[in-house]
Formats: sequence, structure tokens, C-alpha cells
Amino acid sequence: MRALPKAHLHLHFTGSMRVETVRDMALGHGMRLPDSLRGSYPPRLSAADERGWFRFQRLYDAARHCVRGEADMRRIVREAALDDGAEGSRWLEIQVDPTSYAPFVGGITPAMEIVLDEARSVNATADETGSARVGVLMAASRIRHPLEARTLARLAARYAGRGPEGVVGFGLSNDERRGDTPDFAPAFRIAERAGLALVPHSGELLGPDSVAETLEALRPDRLGHGVRSVEDPRVLGAIVEAGVALEVCPGSNVSLGVYREDPDVPLRTLVEAGATIALGADDPLLFASRLLDQYETARTVHGLDDAEIAELARGSFRASRAPREVVDTALADIDAWLSAPA
Ligand SMILES: [Zn+2]
Repeated sequence: MRALPKAHLHLHFTGSMRVETVRDMALGHGMRLPDSLRGSYPPRLSAADERGWFRFQRLYDAARHCVRGEADMRRIVREAALDDGAEGSRWLEIQVDPTSYAPFVGGITPAMEIVLDEARSVNATADETGSARVGVLMAASRIRHPLEARTLARLAARYAGRGPEGVVGFGLSNDERRGDTPDFAPAFRIAERAGLALVPHSGELLGPDSVAETLEALRPDRLGHGVRSVEDPRVLGAIVEAGVALEVCPGSNVSLGVYREDPDVPLRTLVEAGATIALGADDPLLFASRLLDQYETARTVHGLDDAEIAELARGSFRASRAPREVVDTALADIDAWLSAPA
């Protein structure tokens, strides 16, 4: 499974951190981490209710507060790419909300430049280091004013069209129950005009009505999660028809209580509906479950065979903004993986 070429399209900057790295940063900056990021790691989470989500966000914020400057930011990009590469990921689209780090580096533009510059140096040396190559997604937050999303979209647009040297997509993250999706449409139109991949979260904490609203208001290329579209076959049908890919994160869904147990994640239903799927880890720091674990779960819990798993991997590249040559090579190598004797 490790040898299967994969593209990883759903990984948050802060949530990608190794727990040792968070502890290092906390020590270096003289900050105290919550117990569940120290002795009682990994945290037990559930966002099935607002309190559970609040707990998840508090831990997330604790980790984010340890990131206090350029060196920390560069380290996160570098380690995320190395860790992904070690699991057979060849292309990582990392999702960054630069506003969180802006105060430490002189604004959102320098924050973005630092991430992009580190991504460039990761990409330049990926063959020697075994890192995944990195593309950067800029993400706005649903809990902030929609005008902030517009500011970020304008910034993202300035870095668009440069392939992996620039920003490849624009996302919308945080608590799906907060904010009105149509209010973010102007930001998405700016990103769309710039040719960015549109990758909002939807269909995780809320059901198919919210997905339908997102499809109409934001015209996404992919949905972060989107799993709850299975609750209305018409909505799932519309996703498949429109060719909108789903970034499915089974480990995250169970950790956050979207589904109770691993088998409850509707991966097979989505596969059988013909949806394009890219498995993702979301926040391995908090869920203690990485990209490879998602593929293992597809096999051991959902019973997907090698051909179906290879198709997931193909989907991840087709739904990505990876450079053409990365996609072509990966698709050929996926075929070789599938035809190799077990
Ligand atoms: Zn996410």
C-alpha cells in the first residue's frame, strides 16, 4: 500500500504537524501544551455536538499558538512533505490559512510567501529527499467575516497560474455550522476567475442540504469531505454528474464523531455511485491517523480490492492540481502497482 502512488489533497497546515514538533516548538517558546498533546496523546475527540467541536478547536488552537515565526512555518511544510513522501504520496496540497501566522512575520503576504518559498525548495529537492511535491491551497475561515475571505481570495489570485510555484487552490474551512455559505460566493468568484481549484469544506458536520447549497453558491471543483451527501441520492448524483471530487477523510470522520465506527463511513456507497474520491488525513496531529492509514482502512474495513484502491489513487491525481508530468507518471506507476504480483 505504501508503494501505491497517491496524491494527498486534504491536509491542514497546523494539523499536519508531528506531535514531537509541536512539543519542540512549545518548549522553545516556553509554552505549556494541554495534556492531550503531552502524556495522554492522542486526544479523544468528538464533534458530534458543539461542545465536542469546541474541544477539537481548542486543541487545534493550542497547536497553532506554538507556531511563532518563519522557522516554525518552514519546518511544518518540510516535515509534512517528508512524512507524506514516506507513505507513497507524490503530491501534497497543503491547506493554509495565513492569517493565523501573519502577526509573527509581518502580515498575510509574507506569511504566504514563506509557505510558498518553502514549498519551492521542497519541490526542488524532492527527488533526493523522497518528499512529496507540494502545492499550496489558501483557505479562508467560515467563522471570520466574509470580507476577510475576499481579501484572502485576492491574495491567492495574485499567486495563481504559476503551477506548483504559486497557489493552486482556494478553500473554506472551520465549523460548517457557522456562517452562511452564499456570503462566501464573492470570494470564490475571485478565486474562480484566477483559475484556482475551488475546494471548500462541506457535507461533514452538516448534511445534503448544506452540500446542495455549497454546490450552487460556490461552484466547487472538490468538496472537503462531502461524505454526508450520501443521505440524499439526488445530491450525490449531482456531485457525480458535475464531476466534483470528494476529499474523503475516514479517520477524521470517526475521530470527530461524524460517524460512530470505521465501517459507518460510507466509502463504498461513494465508490459505487461513481464519485471521484481522494482520501485524506485532514489533521493527523489530532487524529493520530495518517494518509496511509486511510488507504489501509479502505482495504481492511471497507473491503475494497486492489483494483478499487488503485482507482482511489487515480482519482486523487485526477482531482489534483499536480503538474501534468507528475500526474502522467503516477497514473502509469499505479497501473504497474496493480499489475505487479502480490
Ligand atoms: Zn479539513
